[in-house]
Amino acid sequence: MQLLLNNIRQLVTVAAEGKPWKAGPAMREINMIEDGSVLIERDTIQWVGTTRDFHAQLKKEATIVDASDLIALPGFVDAHTHLLFAGSREDEFAMRAEGKTYQQIAEQGGGILKTVSATRLATKRDLKKLASHRLDEMMKHGTTTVEIKSGYGLTEDDEIKMLEAIGELSHDHVMTIAPTFLGAHAIPPEFRKRREAYVDLVCERMLPYIGKKKLAAFCDVFCDTGYFTVEEATRILKQAQSHGMKAKLHADELAASGGSHLAAELGAISADHLEHINQHGIDSLRTAGVVGVLLPGVSFFLNHGYAPARKLIDSGVPVAIASDFNPGSCMSFSMPLMMTIACTQMSMTPEEAITACTLNGAAALGLSNQVGSIEVGKQADIILYNLPQYRHLPYYFGVNHVAKVIKRGTILEF
Ligand SMILES: [Zn+2]
Repeated sequence: MQLLLNNIRQLVTVAAEGKPWKAGPAMREINMIEDGSVLIERDTIQWVGTTRDFHAQLKKEATIVDASDLIALPGFVDAHTHLLFAGSREDEFAMRAEGKTYQQIAEQGGGILKTVSATRLATKRDLKKLASHRLDEMMKHGTTTVEIKSGYGLTEDDEIKMLEAIGELSHDHVMTIAPTFLGAHAIPPEFRKRREAYVDLVCERMLPYIGKKKLAAFCDVFCDTGYFTVEEATRILKQAQSHGMKAKLHADELAASGGSHLAAELGAISADHLEHINQHGIDSLRTAGVVGVLLPGVSFFLNHGYAPARKLIDSGVPVAIASDFNPGSCMSFSMPLMMTIACTQMSMTPEEAITACTLNGAAALGLSNQVGSIEVGKQADIILYNLPQYRHLPYYFGVNHVAKVIKRGTILEF
């Protein structure tokens, strides 16, 4: 089956020519083609160029889309989400609006552990149903690849329930899904006085099982003040690597607590958050080639400080942007909104934000050979927007401009 997208007003390819990511000034090179065409054969991109140069032989049954009023970008790759959860936390949102602190909210039963209680009570079926609906909505907003973390179970059974739900969703849903084990998201209440026993449980029971059943591609640890120490994170992530998972870290979110340095030392695929990263951490990430995944929606939603995106980019760290969609600190998965916040609050340019949400997001999942740009041989994940030019995407914010979603070569109907 052939699909030809023709006369695309602006075709933003983010072509990387074989590189896994873009860093430094290259993040601004989005390789935009005016009046472009893309030919798709089944699920793969076959040809990319200007409409004028298009010359491939079209089959009789080919579908042709005239995109003269539309622009095209690669589908977004949201490389950091906690979208599998039950319950919600709008009460905390209201408390914060009244000026209550994180501590006060936690004392009244809020925070991660509230979502843990609700998620433990939910069945795998309940969780899948909730998540499936969220995945549909994400696709409508232009996201075609997403990472999903466990981490609201925090018991052996509940973490495995979450990972199995993620595995089944990746089978049943058209979204490309990367599964991450985040058993070390918080110390569960039952282990508050014996945290070492919980780390033992993660290392000695959960990780071997998850590795054997191939339930996760990545293992993440919340390494920060009040969560897991650098020593605990090291032990967990080394164990995960020995079971075939790649390392990720929630790093330097609350303080410069050494998470990004550890990510570099362990050869992690990404270090995420980085609101408090220092120059030493930045240098370590750049040298080790670790993708820095920034989550501007969290800083916006919690009214916290932002990660130093300019310093990271200017130092040559490959920077990605993700939503961190979760019920506590960012109840939005809109990648265009994340781009707007990145541009207005973190001084990123629209072009850098586009690269960060596509190719570099794919690199944070080890998938940039398949998705994240519109190039020959890659999976045909392309979004058409009803906009006159690409800068309108972060500029004309708070509105969904998606006209068509093409996932693996198929135009989705919603
Ligand atoms: Zn997170």
